[in-house]
Amino acid sequence: MSRVLILEPSKAAAMFIQTTLQKAGFDCDHANTYGRAQEFIAANDYFAGLSSMVLDGVEYGSGINLLLEHRIPAIAVTASLDEQVLKTLSTKNIVDYVLKKPDQADYIARIVSRVYKNQDVKVLVVDDSASVRDWISRILKRQGLKVLQAEDGKAATKIFYRNSDIKLVLTDYNMPEMDGLRLTAHLRTIRSMDELSIIVLSSDTKSRTAPLFLKQGANDFIQKGASVEEILCRVNSNLEFLELIQASRDRANKDFLTGLWNRRYFFEYGEPLYSQSFSADRELCVVMLDIDHFKKINDTFGHDAGDQVLIDFSALLAEFVGDLGLVSRFGGEEFTIILDGVQADGLMDFLEEFRAQVENFAVEFKGKIINMTVSIGATANMDESLTAMIGRADDKLYEAKRSGRNRILCDW
Ligand code: GH3
Ligand code: MG
Ligand code: MG
Repeated sequence: MSRVLILEPSKAAAMFIQTTLQKAGFDCDHANTYGRAQEFIAANDYFAGLSSMVLDGVEYGSGINLLLEHRIPAIAVTASLDEQVLKTLSTKNIVDYVLKKPDQADYIARIVSRVYKNQDVKVLVVDDSASVRDWISRILKRQGLKVLQAEDGKAATKIFYRNSDIKLVLTDYNMPEMDGLRLTAHLRTIRSMDELSIIVLSSDTKSRTAPLFLKQGANDFIQKGASVEEILCRVNSNLEFLELIQASRDRANKDFLTGLWNRRYFFEYGEPLYSQSFSADRELCVVMLDIDHFKKINDTFGHDAGDQVLIDFSALLAEFVGDLGLVSRFGGEEFTIILDGVQADGLMDFLEEFRAQVENFAVEFKGKIINMTVSIGATANMDESLTAMIGRADDKLYEAKRSGRNRILCDW
């Protein structure tokens, strides 16, 4: 869901917000009246909405209320920010407020992008007081985050094991069973600081408490008396930090064109897997795939069309393999799969299904239909190293090419 609703009576202001958000990659609908907004909401799903505080024919703030009634994270747009406006805004469950000024464009794009990303972010709130837990959860939910709750460290640990995709834990210090400090220490044994953010929210004012937590691996420490705005700013900056780290990891490990893992990561992931499988006497399959006559596709349809074929082929392959193994782009139009979820005796049928899918697959590029076939070489012989297994699969691929292409050869 990437649609935003803009509820704004002024055409000029709406245009500027719409242009800003479209540049950031979002689809926008613009309603200039309350009634029009109701129609849009009835017909579409929105992950966020921006509304002017003033709308024709309805009370001050009605647009925001409309968004909130439909559980759409709401951002207030206001022409001025005097005490009265700020007071009204603080009573509403909004994500944030923005001024109707062109120099706010970057800020608007940043908040909307944050809410957009939050749809996939799970946060765990840990506090023994139900009312504090609910209060924090409400603040986080209105930012579009998915929120889970636990009443102490022990319960939090259980929830964490069932939800390994939790990105942020907001925890209290003093709790029965397991306190925040022990919880922090425990979580750090399973997730590093750049994979999971832990923020402590405590009413403890002793000067040594914050360093105690930070040394144990907490990312941040906030006093319970802090304003909602401060809590949110810290939550956001911690999430942004995690995303930055993730983006730089992806740059190092993923192929830029196709988004698949690259050759470097293939070995980083594959070498330890090979060693584990070898010592446990478990079978591993290594597969090499190469698109047939790919040069001809480039020559006939152009290099950009070739790129599109690589992108679509990669998506098809990744979808086909799913959780059963790791797919990487080994180079040019060559791909590898390392499979530890498919037995060698079922591998041939598995690969045959993919070969047939490729044969019936069509890539559309600028109105032209491009078809292709793929040759595949595979091995389940553990040999002496992962590199040796690659060599075996590659030999089989070469044979598949020489004997007519569009086929699979295995070394057993
Ligand atoms: P074969 O069936 O024997 O594999 O023939 P082929 O034409 O597929 O293989 P060949 O190795 O002769 O040519 C591969 C071509 O792939 C050459 C290279 O220019 C092209 N190529 C490599 N990387 C890219 C890329 O990222 N984008 C595009 N469009 N082409 C690429
Ligand atoms: Mg080829
Ligand atoms: Mg090749």
